[in-house]
Amino acid sequence: MTEYEKIKGELGKQQVDLVAVSKTFPTDRIKELYQKGQRTFGENKVQELTVKQSQLPEDIKWHFIGHLQKNKVKYISSFIGLIHSVDSIGLAKEIDKRAGQNNRIIDILLQIKVAEEDSKYGISPEDLDPFVKQLKDLSLTHVRVCGIMGMGTFTSDEKKTREEFKEIRAAFQTIKSAHFSDDDAFSTVSMGMSGDYKIAIEEGSTMVRIGSLIFGHRNYNK
Ligand SMILES: *Cc1c(COP(=O)(O)O)cnc(C)c1O
Repeated sequence: MTEYEKIKGELGKQQVDLVAVSKTFPTDRIKELYQKGQRTFGENKVQELTVKQSQLPEDIKWHFIGHLQKNKVKYISSFIGLIHSVDSIGLAKEIDKRAGQNNRIIDILLQIKVAEEDSKYGISPEDLDPFVKQLKDLSLTHVRVCGIMGMGTFTSDEKKTREEFKEIRAAFQTIKSAHFSDDDAFSTVSMGMSGDYKIAIEEGSTMVRIGSLIFGHRNYNK
């Protein structure tokens, strides 16, 4: 059994969705997984994503998991399945505008920042509630807020990772109760990567983003 099949089996039992993170890997590797039934793939660069999307089957659900610049939304708005990384009102508005131009509704997650590293984007936990209020007041008709995404600090300290995942899950719960209690679409907690997905699931993740464990080591210099 391949690593993919093992993970898929594990996640299936727990009803956790798998985003296969294919960034830096060629389309041949994506096709291999596609043939095994995987349909959801994650990318973090607009240019790389649009090239792959044009070469691969139409029924792939592409997720955008990296920092997204407003001026690049237009390149992915006709096909993107889920954007995990919305962390500004301006970006949400731009996605709404471009989705409207394509006559579609784009699903988004709000990225929350709990990790220590400054380099990570996202809304800080204390800003999340006012952010959601502001977003809801805009009544955007072409974006659907489906939940929260977060990343843990890159550390071998399992306890720290667990605490951060607890914080992400708690933020989801708070926002759900305050703003989306009648909205079944708000149901996703995207957290957990190759090194920490098991902890993430124990702490209430509903969607994990796994790259290297499935595809192998990434070479960014290629
Ligand atoms: C690259 C990436 C992943 C996958 O990381 P792995 O450690 O290879 O599983 C998950 N989420 C985001 C946002 C990423 O950029």
